[in-house]
Amino acid sequence: MKKKASLTKKIMLGLFLGAIFGVILSNLPGGYLKDTVIINGLISVVGGIFINAIKMLVVPLVFVSIVCGASAIGDPKKLGRVGIKTLSFYLVTTGIAISLALIIGKIISPGIGLDLSSVIKKEPTIGAAKSLVDVILDMIPRNPVASLANGSMLQIIVFALLTGVSMAMIREKAQPVINIFNSLNEIMMKMVIIVMTVAPYGVFALITKTFATVGFEAMVPLLKYMVAVLLALVVHALLTYMGMLSVIGKLNPIQFFKNFAPAMGVAFSTASSSGTLPVTIETAEERCGVSKNIAAFTLPLGATINMDGTAIMQGVAVIFISQVYGIDLSLQALLTVILTATLASVGTAGVPGVGLITLSMVLQSIGLPIEGIALIIGIDRLLDMTRTVVNITGDTVCTILVSKSEGEFDKDIYYKKNKQL
Ligand code: ASP
Repeated sequence: MKKKASLTKKIMLGLFLGAIFGVILSNLPGGYLKDTVIINGLISVVGGIFINAIKMLVVPLVFVSIVCGASAIGDPKKLGRVGIKTLSFYLVTTGIAISLALIIGKIISPGIGLDLSSVIKKEPTIGAAKSLVDVILDMIPRNPVASLANGSMLQIIVFALLTGVSMAMIREKAQPVINIFNSLNEIMMKMVIIVMTVAPYGVFALITKTFATVGFEAMVPLLKYMVAVLLALVVHALLTYMGMLSVIGKLNPIQFFKNFAPAMGVAFSTASSSGTLPVTIETAEERCGVSKNIAAFTLPLGATINMDGTAIMQGVAVIFISQVYGIDLSLQALLTVILTATLASVGTAGVPGVGLITLSMVLQSIGLPIEGIALIIGIDRLLDMTRTVVNITGDTVCTILVSKSEGEFDKDIYYKKNKQL
């Protein structure tokens, strides 16, 4: 019990101290000691080790956990039911998220009266966003081994689901393999716990680096845009998610934050839903009381396709860029944004910065200049960190509600002071 609370505290302390240390560093004059030894040496090594260690776990964990989840849910009807509930939740909340972002963006109007010409330094090099047809076709792996090697999440999910469902269908004949997968799953979870012991140091290093390299001054001109994004993120988390938890789930939302804090800390420092996934799964199961079978399915799926925080940034960015370029948005354009940003959220990989790339697809859909991304690219990191927290919170709230509706939720764990992590 004590150990768990202390890890959360340590992660938060790492965040806090990292921010302070980073700001101090950014104000010191550059030089060999600061740049080479501290920032690009020590700090990069510690942060890099932590990031690599969690990335190392992602592919095997997703594969093993979905195979276990799908084979344990067994009944394809139940899997279908859970799938439909999960997808509906993901789509509806993403729609709400963008609408909120558009409204808050309009109210704050970050782009009006701002002269940003001094901020535009160079054109961003933005990769092409995929079309919807490509996104769908790309879900089916032609070579599952290559998908695993490349870490193509949607393909891995599809292959793992098929493997798990097939195992469930031939139940007895597959039993030895089911046992092996269950045992592999335990091993993966143990590995997560081991890696998490270095989390506070990793988080400290990552935050230090962000603050030391970005500094605060660069953020000032875009403060309004940032405030609008952050406000929409907070409103979505508090109104939509917490509202759903208390009204639909009849659960205390404050308790949710207490339980879920370690995963939020890791998401904030890594800015990667996929990277945080091992911790999200562990935290959801061990501290939020969701069923392992359901979490094994909904969380990897959510980390891949459900990005409400990203959609919020894109909604506000659309308003901001349209105002900066003096382009009025019609109602039809706004509706198009809701649609394309939902698709963009599906197509955004859970790694840092991809939301900006898929933003190009949203801008293009309503004829806004893609160069607008150059305006916000410099300050995106802090927003990326924050929206990633919202991204994984949405996945976990959905998992809790789906678990509850399937009668597979452990209230005692949710309200109990927790034992691990
Ligand atoms: N960093 C985000 C995530 O991993 C994705 C993005 O918006 O860039 O959830």
